[in-house]
Amino acid sequence: MDRQKYQELVSTFFEWDPPAISQIFSELLSAVSAESASTPASLMSQNYETARANPEIHVLPGNLKDARDAIFPYFWGTDSWNNPLHLENVRGPANHASLIGVLACLLKNPNLCTDRYSQRSNELEVKAITTLANLIFYHTNDPWGVFTIGGTISNLYGAKIGLERVLPGAMRTGLLGQSIVGICSQASHYSNQTVAGWLGIGTSNLLEIPTDEDLAMRVDLLDAKLEELYQAGTKVAYVCATFGTTDGFGIDDIEAIRHIIDAKSKKYSVPAPQLHADAAVGWALSMLTDYDLSKNPLQMEEQLLELVRRAQVKNKGLRFADSVTIDFHKMGRGHYPSSAFIVNRREDLKYLARTVSDTPYFSDADASRDPALFTLECSRPGLGPYSVIASLNGIGLTGWQMLLARSLELAQRLKDKLATLEHCKVLNAGTCGATVNWWVLPKGRNAEEIYQRLVRNELTQEQWARYRPEIRQLFDKRLKMMDPAIDARLGFTTSYGFCPNGYDIPAWKAVFFNPKTTEAMVDRIADSIAEL
Ligand SMILES: *Cc1c(COP(=O)(O)O)cnc(C)c1O
Repeated sequence: MDRQKYQELVSTFFEWDPPAISQIFSELLSAVSAESASTPASLMSQNYETARANPEIHVLPGNLKDARDAIFPYFWGTDSWNNPLHLENVRGPANHASLIGVLACLLKNPNLCTDRYSQRSNELEVKAITTLANLIFYHTNDPWGVFTIGGTISNLYGAKIGLERVLPGAMRTGLLGQSIVGICSQASHYSNQTVAGWLGIGTSNLLEIPTDEDLAMRVDLLDAKLEELYQAGTKVAYVCATFGTTDGFGIDDIEAIRHIIDAKSKKYSVPAPQLHADAAVGWALSMLTDYDLSKNPLQMEEQLLELVRRAQVKNKGLRFADSVTIDFHKMGRGHYPSSAFIVNRREDLKYLARTVSDTPYFSDADASRDPALFTLECSRPGLGPYSVIASLNGIGLTGWQMLLARSLELAQRLKDKLATLEHCKVLNAGTCGATVNWWVLPKGRNAEEIYQRLVRNELTQEQWARYRPEIRQLFDKRLKMMDPAIDARLGFTTSYGFCPNGYDIPAWKAVFFNPKTTEAMVDRIADSIAEL
């Protein structure tokens, strides 16, 4: 081989050249800041045809600028959601403390599978998990957990522990044809379906309990369902409570669920199901737990204080969960993937543990330091812990309280504005969170009255078939009419989670994750609806 060419190659791609790297970085940074001059809708259009028909690999070794050029159009064509008019879904702009954290992580590229491959980055994971556990479970003694590639996988861990609780050894024997179910609410995230399917329980054995109007699981119906299941000898592996539903921020009463599952499992002498809290969206409310309402150091207005007070009451429920899913990449405004799965009591990880002989090339692994002995994944990125610890300590608890309170405040402002329009109906008025779901019907209709008739099952099929599409038609009309420079981009859901009499209810949706969104932008949403 040509030694000189080889040396050039190695020196370009494996030796540190800080000026060359920082130059490209500053070019990318200036491209990102240029984005702020454009509106959310003005992306470069996609070219999927060529992505498949014309795969690409250079023949000759190049340099770092070739790497830059190869990805640049796709980088430029991707919206970072920094624009404060983005309100479509549970995605916000990533914060810059997180950016520092994840960049540092990428420079070392640790693999969290065992601490030999990651040294202090593994320690950082323990620190990040323990910090989040203390926010969530409050005074907890022995929590443990890991970062995963997303809320779906974190939910999978919770369900898997439940499966092993009710069918010990399932890791080895499989389900043995047993009748096993998992339970969640009708407003829960679709990842619960993914989990039931992939675990072998089967999506048809995931039972969805209807919710009340505030998108919380009906605990009376849970009680009745458990009675029916245990009577029939069915094993109930887990109940996945939702803490903050994705569309409407509904919060299940985890304390009540705890009491019910404990009482029922005792009555039938069976192991209690795993009580997992899917707090992918809602966990961030726990930043508000310690806010002093009487001293009110941030001088919040009375109405906002009331929202914080309500959040504090909800947060108490989390302490009753066995395990929890936290997506830091949602309300933590962290970088993807920063999802954490946390158990309240470390001993529960025994349900996931495999022996060293199952993981031969980690023969020197130690379960206390080496997550690979119980994780689903083998190689795991360190991005989550770096994002979390950099963000929590850069921004600080008080900073987080300001961000959280601001989200609640803007959501409430929109709810209040929409409530004054007769042809609108705020659907999740009773939830305490960062999202708003509502109807817009043609002017002249009384949205509240139509909604009440739907709930009381007084609408005829024809009436509902007429009203329902109007909600979407008006959404599409606003899309056509909107001025992308001033009109916020909203989301739409075909079923926001409350399904009275079995009807899926569609809704317009706004999510307040962007700290730069202003009152004027919120008021403009209501005005643009009045103009339709
Ligand atoms: C987003 C979400 C999930 C899935 O999380 P990913 O990180 O997208 O995999 C699960 N549950 C809820 C409630 C969510 O909002």
